[in-house]
Amino acid sequence: MLKTINLHKKYNDFIALESLNLEVNKGEIFALLGQNGAGKSTTINMLLGLIKPTSGDAFINDISVTENPQEIKKHLAYIPETVLLYPNLTGIENLDFFSKIAGFTYDKEELVSFLNRTGLQEIAHHKPLGGYSKGMRQKVGIAIALAKDAKVLLLDEPTSGLDPIATADFTELVCQFGREGRTVFMATHDIFNAVSVATNIGIMKQGQLIQNLPSKTFTAEELQEIYLKTI
Ligand code: ATP
Repeated sequence: MLKTINLHKKYNDFIALESLNLEVNKGEIFALLGQNGAGKSTTINMLLGLIKPTSGDAFINDISVTENPQEIKKHLAYIPETVLLYPNLTGIENLDFFSKIAGFTYDKEELVSFLNRTGLQEIAHHKPLGGYSKGMRQKVGIAIALAKDAKVLLLDEPTSGLDPIATADFTELVCQFGREGRTVFMATHDIFNAVSVATNIGIMKQGQLIQNLPSKTFTAEELQEIYLKTI
């Protein structure tokens, strides 16, 4: 579903990402850990087609990102650390607008049901997004991903700044996404969340993927130990 072949990014002489070979299959949730500057966002931006690789390529559903940057957008949803939607539009208006941009028109009931699935309280649906908390904005972001029927979800530090309940809600939504056979790739610093949500965990150091491990084989404490030894 998501694959990179020798994906490589250089800025002058600096290697931001070194020949990344990775496969994340349908229904898998891949969490990428690594220190600041390790190359996590560079990877996500290349998967999105926002940064052109120096060499190599990424594939979403077997479609080349470099050759078909517009086509792959139909299969992807991206939720950055801070979800930027239209602050003057309500949650439901944002969902309606971004669904239409992606080519989907839903009636009000359907829009409400997408928002309900994310756990966004109904009272918030008709309030301007400018007054939403970070966790609420993320829920609208997930509702947009569901409405677009995105097969692949890319998340950049999704739990940073969320309180423990919002993190738990978010974790449950990401797990549901995986159970529906969708694929999730997330960059995170949250070791505890990575262990609870991911099927596979990668650890990146200075642009290199040093570890790629199935997550169910260890606890958060054990992962922290592996992480500290790796970086
Ligand atoms: P963080 O956890 O802080 O978000 P990250 O793992 O996402 O870090 P990246 O943002 O991918 O790290 O950056 C990887 C490296 O590439 C960093 O050393 C960064 O300074 C460098 N880099 C990123 N963009 C550019 C650019 N446009 N020009 C030069 N160097 C860049």
